[in-house]
Amino acid sequence: MIAMNTITEQTHYFLEKEEKYGAHNYHPLPVVLAKGKGVFVWDVDNKRYYDFLSGYSAINQGHCHPRIIETFIEQCQKLTLSSRAFYNNVLGEYEEFITGFFGYDKVLPMNTGVEAVETALKLARRWGYEVKGVLPEKAHIIVCKDNFHGRTISVISFSSDEASKRNFGPFTPGFIDIPYNDIPALEAALQNKNVVGFLVEPIQGEAGVIVPNDGYLANAATLCKDNNVLFIADEIQSGLCRTGKMLCCDYENVHPDILILGKALSGGTMPVSAVLADNEIMLTIKPGDHGSTYGGNPLACKVAITALKVLQEEKMAENAIVQGNLFRNGLKEINHPYMDTIRGKGLFNAIVIKHPNKNMAWDICLKMKENGLIAKPTHNDRIRFAPPLLITTSQTEECIDIIKKSLFEI
Ligand SMILES: *Cc1c(COP(=O)(O)O)cnc(C)c1O
Repeated sequence: MIAMNTITEQTHYFLEKEEKYGAHNYHPLPVVLAKGKGVFVWDVDNKRYYDFLSGYSAINQGHCHPRIIETFIEQCQKLTLSSRAFYNNVLGEYEEFITGFFGYDKVLPMNTGVEAVETALKLARRWGYEVKGVLPEKAHIIVCKDNFHGRTISVISFSSDEASKRNFGPFTPGFIDIPYNDIPALEAALQNKNVVGFLVEPIQGEAGVIVPNDGYLANAATLCKDNNVLFIADEIQSGLCRTGKMLCCDYENVHPDILILGKALSGGTMPVSAVLADNEIMLTIKPGDHGSTYGGNPLACKVAITALKVLQEEKMAENAIVQGNLFRNGLKEINHPYMDTIRGKGLFNAIVIKHPNKNMAWDICLKMKENGLIAKPTHNDRIRFAPPLLITTSQTEECIDIIKKSLFEI
């Protein structure tokens, strides 16, 4: 699969090491990165690329954003971890900041995205038993087909991706899956009085940037409210300005009952995730019921405050809208027969490749890499395009040219 002729000796050296000593749980594009700045990354041979993955949207603010790095270094020299056995002098400041920022009573800090998803599921169940009054062990949570919410056993229990599940069972019960972007299916599933929550990605990222119909999120949120069910938005990838709003839910004025954030919450410097909810939900968890050694560490808290400020003060949502429109229009004008679908919102975009060779999307990614732009296929035939949000107009235009050139060279 790897076109060896494009791989230098240096690159080969690092590929071999990972192949030999690392678990084979990823299939990376054969490029070895050594440096990043803004929208650019450089490989070990000092070749420069536009980064069109942005660490799966963890690097919305751009690589090594100077303000985030400065905050990071400053806090590193003071205190990095207190554990939650003791207080630290940053967590409270962060909690006040982020709850005010998103409009919730409380936040529960975690590290990785999937931990935040797990936390949200626990909260929904607790709330279901203690507030809604569901009978013990009966709580159900509705999820969507083709979702991606992470890799723990409970979260893969409701994945529809065969590779994520094969021989990892037995799985966690209590989930009902329905098609995405299907209001009647949600309405039907909500007939079950043991349902406590509906977990949804406002745009399905890993599925290939599946954008639901206008009104889907608002209608789903209203249905949940009418049925006394929590609307739980996983904005780990769609949030934090990626789609042109601070949250993708903002497009439909939806305020989720539980909001899950991660990825760009640290601007790509370290794993930082968060679950936000109001008291009625959050206070069902009591001291000792849930936690994480690193959750709420002062380094993460300081970094997250700056990461959010950078997004807002540098108007990254606004730029995502402008550049996203330019980008999609540019792609449409390429008019290449292999490019079947172009979809997305803001700078969260994907194309679907139509070709009998099922490695075509991979081959296109290799070609784009040669031409100075890195992106990664998802589900074989889809290529996600998600550059850092500080990309400029001339850079976007150059990237459209790279994509065009690569398609016509294939
Ligand atoms: C990446 C992602 C996760 C999981 O985050 P990790 O930090 O990899 O655990 C969960 N939900 C969505 C929508 C994601 O994109």
